[in-house]
Parts: sequence; C-alpha cells; structure tokens
Amino acid sequence: MLYRAEGIVIRSTDYGEGNKIVTLLTPTLGKQGIVVRGAKKLKSRYGALAQLFTYGDYSYYRNGTLGTLNSGEIIESFQELRQGLEGPAYAAYAAELTDRAINDDEAAAYLFHQLKACQTALAEGKDPQIVVRAYEMKVFAAAGYAPMLDECVSCGRRDGPFYFSAAGGGALCRSCRGRDPAALELQDGVWKLLRVFLALDMRRLGSIAVKESSKSQLQLALRRWMDFHLNVNLKSRGFLDQLEKYGDLLGSVPAAKRENPAQADSSEDAPAADESG
Ligand SMILES: [Zn+2]
Repeated sequence: MLYRAEGIVIRSTDYGEGNKIVTLLTPTLGKQGIVVRGAKKLKSRYGALAQLFTYGDYSYYRNGTLGTLNSGEIIESFQELRQGLEGPAYAAYAAELTDRAINDDEAAAYLFHQLKACQTALAEGKDPQIVVRAYEMKVFAAAGYAPMLDECVSCGRRDGPFYFSAAGGGALCRSCRGRDPAALELQDGVWKLLRVFLALDMRRLGSIAVKESSKSQLQLALRRWMDFHLNVNLKSRGFLDQLEKYGDLLGSVPAAKRENPAQADSSEDAPAADESG
C-alpha cells in the first residue's frame, strides 16, 4: 500500500550496500521506518531525504513494519544544523531523544510540531542549552512523565519553597523534603523556567537570556529526571556533555545561523523568563 506523510528524519542508518533506513517522526502516522534505496550514492535523487534533520514529504510503499521510499520532496533541509559543532550536537541529541524515548503511539502531531520548532530555533541560533532543555520537557510530557511542579507531590501544599525530586515526581515542600535526600534546591528563576518549559508550545519560544548558573541547574534537574524516568542511554549525550563542559573553550567555533529568523525574538507571545533570583 502507498502511504504519504510529512516527516522529520530522527534517525538515519546505513543499510546494505548504498541504502539507508530512516525513522521519520510524522504528524499523522507516528514514527515510520523507511528504506531509502541508493541513498548513499552520489547521484541519488533521494540522498538528501535520508539525512538526519531533513523535513520532507515522503511517499512510500509499506506492507510490514518497514516502508520503501517511492518518491519524496524536501520541505526544509535544516542545512544549518549540519554546520559547526554546537548545532549538529544539540540537534542530534534532540533527534535521538525523540527516537529513543517516544513510543509509536506517543508520537502525536503535537510532538512533531515541537521537534520542528526545536530544530528551527536551533537553526536560528537561539541558545541551544535553553532550546534543548525546553524540548526535553516536551518529550517527557509526551512520554507520560511530566513532573508535577505546582504543588508538593507528597502533601499537595501549593506554596514553596520547593525542592526538585526526580524520584518523587516533581516538587517536594520543605516538610516533605526528607522523603528524597537527593532532592535538589533550585534557584527561583530555574523553577520558573521549568514551569514555563512545561506549559510552553515551542512554536512560541522567544529568546530567553539565562545566566550560566541557572543553565547548569536546569541541566542537572532535567538530567536527573531523565535518568530516573526514561531508561534510555543516548549516544549523543556524552558529546553534548563535553561540549557544555568545555563550551567556553570552543566558543570561537561559529555556529551556522539563519539570516532571517521567521519569528521576531521580541514577540509578545514569548515567555517572560527574565530572572529575578
Ligand atoms: Zn509536602
């Protein structure tokens, strides 16, 4: 049967001689695996359709679980995400996280739009540490593991201060903190960002200026969350960790940027994330 779907390539692996198997995240059919024959040949018409990050329109025949590409067209190549060091690292991480953490039945249209917005924001040169943290939250929510942040998971108390407990499922108040000795004390601004990320539609992500100490706390909190709730070992994460650790030393590597961001950064829809604490 012939299928047709728009999709973003979240995984691309070599298959046999000159072929590739891609996994697409689609807005209509969840995740789809498609063989792209001859994708590695220099003159292949469809080679670009098999590249990681490509957003395209794919038609393919499918009988079993795996389809075979019949034809396709690129809608957006996301070429910016293949240049430099940072862009590819963060985009590869977002793609791999999507591939590994999301089951077929969880890959709904909303997540597709979040990934597309994530790639767009990275291509536009928005702070990748913020873009990817926000996207992580979207993946957690799609996978059914959104943290509870507005009230204590243990007693329901709604006024803080709270501590972030990965094992507990979100916020723990001062009296309940003892239930998780590993619960993290986070800056007020970091709590605010976690709540913003949870509620945010990535298509409305503006530019958010966040200080380095807050970024580190965000990374730590979401990393703990991921390690506790999602049993995935991501290949791209080790490289990203190195990049974030030694980012200053690599700061001279220019990231590829789009010249005309489609959205104004100062959009009123952008979440207000100026930090007061
Ligand atoms: Zn409590």
